[in-house]
Amino acid sequence: MPVQQVTILGATGSIGKSTLKVLAQHPDQYQVYALTGFQRLDELAQLVEQHSPKVVVVPEGKIDTFRSLLALHCNDKQIHTIEIVEGETGLCQVASAAAVNVVMAAIVGSAGLKPTLAAIDVGKRVLLANKEALVMAGELFMQRVKQAQATLLPVDSEHNAIFQCLPTDYFSSSARFANQGNRAGVSQILLTASGGPFRTWTLQQMHQATPAQACKHPNWSMGQKISVDSATLMNKGLELIEACHLFELPVERVTVVIHPESIVHSLVQYIDGSTLAQLGNPDMCTPIAHALAWPQRIATTVPPLDLFSANCLNFEQPDEDRFPALALAKSAMKTGGCAPAVLNAANEVAVAAFLANKIAFTQITQLIHAVITQINVLPAHDLDTILVQDLEARELAGQWIMANANRTT
Ligand code: NDP
Ligand code: MG
Repeated sequence: MPVQQVTILGATGSIGKSTLKVLAQHPDQYQVYALTGFQRLDELAQLVEQHSPKVVVVPEGKIDTFRSLLALHCNDKQIHTIEIVEGETGLCQVASAAAVNVVMAAIVGSAGLKPTLAAIDVGKRVLLANKEALVMAGELFMQRVKQAQATLLPVDSEHNAIFQCLPTDYFSSSARFANQGNRAGVSQILLTASGGPFRTWTLQQMHQATPAQACKHPNWSMGQKISVDSATLMNKGLELIEACHLFELPVERVTVVIHPESIVHSLVQYIDGSTLAQLGNPDMCTPIAHALAWPQRIATTVPPLDLFSANCLNFEQPDEDRFPALALAKSAMKTGGCAPAVLNAANEVAVAAFLANKIAFTQITQLIHAVITQINVLPAHDLDTILVQDLEARELAGQWIMANANRTT
């Protein structure tokens, strides 16, 4: 296979850097085509120095600032050969460029939607970490994958695990209707969740939780937003919606299982009583490498799982009273239309407000519930409607924060 040209959307983030680590191990197979950053421009300049991309994307109006940072870190050849583009147009450009074979979609939140769709629309191989994009646009997103015959590979560890446990003909039409509606004999998907840093906390303790405590995940090292989502379990709620779309299953066929050790990354149950699972040390380099090389395998530096030192593997039911985010997400998926986009937008605003110490941890889900009940959810016929509802939800969330900020409930 010729050397694959890779664009990393969100290169300065946790997934972006893990992707670069995997690519650097296989220079004969992959080359970095483009890297993108947003606030951490100094880090982006350092990544340019290390990986020599052909193009970089910076936010609108930041090209001059970035040029001066490049001068601090890079050699003359790198400075003079690199193309710097800006804003959403720049992101869509590097996601869809003819020279690109693979796009890692690792921007956090709704900002990743349009660039990810730009890659999909031209039929790229898209490695999806940016779950918010799929949650927001759901059916529309999957329709566009099919229309353009893009190759969509899940990077989220649970979905990557499920993908690995499904039969290879799962997505073919003959498998779809076999076994009386049990597609390819699959009866349930079991989506594991670590339970986050507050798994054993009372609601009262959670009410006092600080951003630093919420971001201290017991098993994974991740960006701030997804860390808070893991603490509220909204991450699992978003993943439940993600799984329904990726694997074309109704909510009832996806069960969330708390598994504090994060060794079993998810499981698939079949109608014959079999349960298949994918296990491994919690390191995102594994699903990234899997999605990059599929259907082949490439090596990573992740050590093999040592079952002798793994001790016990525990599994529990989630507590939806202490973690209402799960029920909110299930209900949004059942409502359909723009409801998941509204849920996602309200969550993004709530998490940012919590990180800025404007609302308490337990107010995150209160805010989302308030926004969802207030909004008139529209059918998700097109991207414009989804984006209008996203904006509406953000405005309502902003108003809720003004009215309730720092109020003990
Ligand atoms: P980080 O916060 O570490 O990184 C986010 C990336 O997105 C950074 O490169 C950031 O740039 C960029 N970014 C943020 N806002 C914008 C914007 N408005 N426009 C353009 N770029 C932007 O997040 P993670 O790497 O942890 O997560 C990325 C995605 O992957 C999320 O959707 C997350 O849910 C998903 N994911 C992450 C996992 C993990 O282990 N981290 C596991 C599974 C899924 P900058 O830093 O320069 O500001
Ligand atoms: Mg995950």
